[in-house]
Amino acid sequence: MTYRGVMVIGEQRGGVLHPVTYELLARGRVLADKLSEELSCVILGHEMEQFAEGMIQRGADVVYVVDDPALKHFLPRPYATALTRLAKEAKPEIVLSAATTQGRTIMPLIAAKLDTGLTADCTGLDIDPLDRSLLQTRPAIGGNVMATIKTPTSRPQMATVRPKSAKPLPADEGRQGRVVLKTYEANIFSTCEELVEFVKDTTQDVNVQDADIVVCGGKGLKTRDNFHMIEELASLLGAAVGATRDIVDLGWVGYPHQIGLSGKTVSPKLYIAIGLSGSVQHLAGMQTSETIVAINKDEDAQIFQVADFGIVGDLFDVVPELIEKLREKKNGKCVREG
Ligand SMILES: Cc1cc2nc3c(=O)[nH]c(=O)nc-3n(C[C@H](O)[C@H](O)[C@H](O)COP(=O)(O)OP(=O)(O)OC[C@H]3O[C@@H](n4cnc5c(N)ncnc54)[C@H](O)[C@@H]3O)c2cc1C
Repeated sequence: MTYRGVMVIGEQRGGVLHPVTYELLARGRVLADKLSEELSCVILGHEMEQFAEGMIQRGADVVYVVDDPALKHFLPRPYATALTRLAKEAKPEIVLSAATTQGRTIMPLIAAKLDTGLTADCTGLDIDPLDRSLLQTRPAIGGNVMATIKTPTSRPQMATVRPKSAKPLPADEGRQGRVVLKTYEANIFSTCEELVEFVKDTTQDVNVQDADIVVCGGKGLKTRDNFHMIEELASLLGAAVGATRDIVDLGWVGYPHQIGLSGKTVSPKLYIAIGLSGSVQHLAGMQTSETIVAINKDEDAQIFQVADFGIVGDLFDVVPELIEKLREKKNGKCVREG
């Protein structure tokens, strides 16, 4: 039997479907359409069948629900065992997972068991029109080059994909698909691993990736003291604070705030870019944001090429005024100008 179709590995946390599943489906849909093949999505857990319809609405043709109480919480070996078994049965030519902790942990195990290659942390995926193989693009050599990697001799072709690097497709309630409920004999999940407790890492408690609004500051702010304006604006908007690499290198904020090629990739509803030029490395981490507002005194700054709204002006005039207006609004004063 030949290898056919694209398979994406969905994720759940505590029995709730993780949104990265829909991002993977959007990626997978493009590839499956280019190959004129089916897109399947796998979800592992216990009693997860209720989420299958949503996955079909977001692009899946087939949903495999692998159900077992032993899969309720993520454990590397049982998950890798179940997915290897399914990949051997379904024989997809491409397998994608998110470059999350789960994906990064299990994909190398699966690739080793299937005796195939794996490209980690891809930012771009495409199909080579010449031989229909997967083109897997990722930053390499410290982000200085973008390398496109192929897996020419083994199947499936496997890749992990950066979360937030693709937008989910809108739900299409009319989409049809198949749901395949899979159960395996319980002894295949036996493992020496045990989930003892889930402890949140509060040292990295800056979740720019999950925020609906991100306010990001760049070197135009000039000093650490001035960066407080970014923090205040973010606080008034209920937003997360982002920064360019230069700001992180200066030590004004920690690495978890860095947005861009060598930092986090974000796709919030609103991205406010203040005093940053919009280097290619920065744009790589934020250009899928829904609405981008840029404030820069240089009208030729590259950030304006991706901005939906641009304010050409001195941030030291614009931002304090914005903060003042938001403070007034918060304090219940009506702000109206003629
Ligand atoms: C391998 C590699 C990986 C990288 N990864 C990343 C990454 O992940 N993220 C990232 O951000 N960068 C990254 N970089 C760095 C990137 O190339 C740029 O150096 C960086 O993004 C520039 O930061 P900036 O926009 O804050 O500063 P600048 O480019 O110096 O821009 C400052 C901007 O502020 C404006 N400005 C100045 N004063 C004012 C004012 N008073 N009012 C309004 N505007 C003002 C200026 O017009 C200018 O556009 C990477 C570089 C390399 C080589």
